[in-house]
Amino acid sequence: MLKMTTGFVLGIVLGLILGPSSDILAPLGKLFLNLLKMIVIPLVALALMVAVNHSNPRELGRIGLKIFPFYIFATGVSVVLGIFLAKWTHPGVGLSLPSNAQVVVPEKPSFMDTLINMVPSNVFSALSKGDILAVVFVSIVVGLAILFLRHSSNDREREMGELIFRIVDAANEVVTKILNGILQYAPLGVVGITANTVGNQGMDLVIALSKFIGTSYIGVILLIIVVYPIMMKVFGVQVLKFYRDVKEAMFTSFVTSSSLGTLPITLKCAEKAGIGERVARLTLPIGATVNMNGTALRFGVAVIFAAEITGLHFSVGDLATIVIIGTMAAVGTAGVPGAGLIGMSIVFTQAGLPIEIVALTAGINILVDMVFTLGNVTGDLVGAKIVDQTEKGHPDHDNVENT
Ligand code: ASP
Repeated sequence: MLKMTTGFVLGIVLGLILGPSSDILAPLGKLFLNLLKMIVIPLVALALMVAVNHSNPRELGRIGLKIFPFYIFATGVSVVLGIFLAKWTHPGVGLSLPSNAQVVVPEKPSFMDTLINMVPSNVFSALSKGDILAVVFVSIVVGLAILFLRHSSNDREREMGELIFRIVDAANEVVTKILNGILQYAPLGVVGITANTVGNQGMDLVIALSKFIGTSYIGVILLIIVVYPIMMKVFGVQVLKFYRDVKEAMFTSFVTSSSLGTLPITLKCAEKAGIGERVARLTLPIGATVNMNGTALRFGVAVIFAAEITGLHFSVGDLATIVIIGTMAAVGTAGVPGAGLIGMSIVFTQAGLPIEIVALTAGINILVDMVFTLGNVTGDLVGAKIVDQTEKGHPDHDNVENT
């Protein structure tokens, strides 16, 4: 962690000195992101298969029924927090719509399509595209098939099941070793990403949108120091210790702006935080894709920001609808850099706000994306920890066994 922090500080200094020529350091950061992306699909797939084999279908269902309500609740609360905060800070007052603003809104599959596409028509294309929800689905199915083979009454099937399980388990160890190697390189990657971000950020826009940026940062800080701790306290979690254990994942999410990219490190930190391996492996890959509390907060802030710029007034009923739309859009936002902008366009379209305002914030997106991703990943870990707490004492809980 000390090395990562040093990398971050060094990156800021180099970015300030080099300005736009900090581009020469960009490959260092790109390499780090590529390494994380390289490992994420095999890691998720293997970890899930192993996790399923250490659990049983009843447990899978139980954990699912706990984590999804948490995700929806935490996401909804985050939109509300964003709205309240922005009503207090007035981030849009004094700003006007840029006349030449233009934004391209990529096609977004509907909520139903997202659900149906979890079942991929082609396993290999899902793997190669890095379609994480499809990978989660297929890995659970394969894991279950292996589990059933291992418990079959037929000797041959049992033998095959054991054989394939040992191979999957061994492959999982290999991937974990590679991940440890990648972590050695992380500080250098952090230098590259940070220098590049700081060096290329236009100061004029930062100043004009400083209230929007400030509100976003305050919001996520409130999530981390007030909202999450309250949730964790209710379930008897030691908050400070928890944050100490997961700080590497929080830091990496901030620097990489990607929940999915951070996932390998999130899984490692979960182990440190004493989250049972099955709970961690079953919930965190899904959390990195669907649980976006920081992003949800962005939607709340952005709606008020846009309303202030355009002079629109929302009734309490309108705001309640926006909370629901924002929650759905956050669930549908991918855990990759910049995805929140797409979600924001969706929320704006549904709320009848001009999406040109999305373009207005696009220039500083890199700065806010960092902090929203921090909120997202922290929320994933908080959810996993809470579910783990509720699993303690259950006969099949594994809070000591960590691999
Ligand atoms: N970058 C965020 C994440 O990966 C998603 C977003 O853009 O809001 O968690």
